[in-house]
Amino acid sequence: GLSDRLQATMQKIRGKGKVTEADIKVMMREVRLALLEADVNFKVVKQFVATVSERALGSDVMTSLTPGQQVIKIVQDELTQLMGGENTQINMSKKPPTVVMMVGLQGAGKTTTAGKLALLMRKKYNKKPLLVACDIYRPAAIQQLQTVGRQIDIPVFTLGDQVNPEEITRQALAHAKEEHLDFVIIDTAGRLHIDEALMNELVDVKEVSKPDEIMLVVDAMTGQDAVNVAESFDQQLDVTGVTLTKLDGDTRGGAALSIRSVTQKPIKFVGMSEKMDGLEPFHPERMASRILGMGDVLSLIEKAQASVDETKAKELEQKMKTSSFTFDDFLEQLDQVRNLGPLDDLLKMIPGASKMKNVQSLNMNPKQIDHVEAIIRSMTAKERKDPSVINVSRKKRIAAGSGRSMAEVNRLIKQFEEMKKMMKQFSGMKKGKKGRNPFQ
Ligand code: GDP
Ligand code: MG
Repeated sequence: GLSDRLQATMQKIRGKGKVTEADIKVMMREVRLALLEADVNFKVVKQFVATVSERALGSDVMTSLTPGQQVIKIVQDELTQLMGGENTQINMSKKPPTVVMMVGLQGAGKTTTAGKLALLMRKKYNKKPLLVACDIYRPAAIQQLQTVGRQIDIPVFTLGDQVNPEEITRQALAHAKEEHLDFVIIDTAGRLHIDEALMNELVDVKEVSKPDEIMLVVDAMTGQDAVNVAESFDQQLDVTGVTLTKLDGDTRGGAALSIRSVTQKPIKFVGMSEKMDGLEPFHPERMASRILGMGDVLSLIEKAQASVDETKAKELEQKMKTSSFTFDDFLEQLDQVRNLGPLDDLLKMIPGASKMKNVQSLNMNPKQIDHVEAIIRSMTAKERKDPSVINVSRKKRIAAGSGRSMAEVNRLIKQFEEMKKMMKQFSGMKKGKKGRNPFQ
């Protein structure tokens, strides 16, 4: 993949004392190939390589003490710029309701993303969303949206499949006003290919609903095609934002790099799972880091923060920094651990974690979490604070008290130490991002 490829190239010049023009040429060839292989649009690649080369050949790089690192930094900067520089938020209307129209090809993820977005808006901004069923063509499309709505407890407006989308939209907006629902998400139909009938219908819905956001939903797995799709939808509808779905899959990520630069429209969200909580704000800088294989530590912390309350998260962060994390903290975090989902997902975001041998053993299911809780609750205050005092006889007592086996008690203590080590590691990485050179 792109990240491995770039990483290998980086490795070659990383730490190199002196970089020659020839070195940079070799490296740029690698970058070009890697990007093309990742299905990035060739025009974008050309521009990217030209910009990076120009900066890399600049005198400040060639004469610096750490030219290799400087080049990597330039690649990262330019990748970030290519994806829009900064996160762009969803457009909100000053006068409720905010109207979002989901558009895109069939199967891109419009319906799923509509539900995810509704959930996110309710959670993050306390919005009262309404989902509007305007896909009257695909069999069972309306039921699909209703299922999504039921799952996240958000109302769905439908007039069946015999009323046209324009009229459905009109009535849905009236309904939203009546019910004081302030965030209307219109789920429209898609086609396998762009056609005129579809576009005309979408233009009609746009005219009736005057959306604050026309969210183009694009399947990241479609690579180069995604860019063409984005371009045509944009020409017809003047989209205002893009959601890139299925980034959790085995995608090559090329779409993320190309879409912004070809359409000039910001990627606002990324879909990271099929589940309703699998929508995340798109952060170009973090994406660039992830592509370069530095791990996405900030996303990880943010994910933790979403389910931990603010002050608690700050405390946790502080504890991680100072490594004063105890079993009491762990106990307090267990509910959050329950909400975070499989620890495996989180670990994937930690640099180097995938290479750690004990990652598997850290994965916990809800039942195991209950057992863990029982074990910790059987520890004394002193033991929770300083697990190193837990000798064999203490372990026996804890096992008996919690009704768990000695092996389980041992495993938990080992896991805890492992986790602490990892926290230390990624809080160090985070510090590195701000202060120290992050490329060492
Ligand atoms: P629509 O035709 O554009 O409305 O697409 P759907 O919302 O029906 O999604 C098509 C398929 O893609 C469904 O099976 C979804 O579960 C799946 N899907 C959508 N978004 C994501 C995502 O971010 N990750 C993964 N893994 N699957 C997704
Ligand atoms: Mg759909």
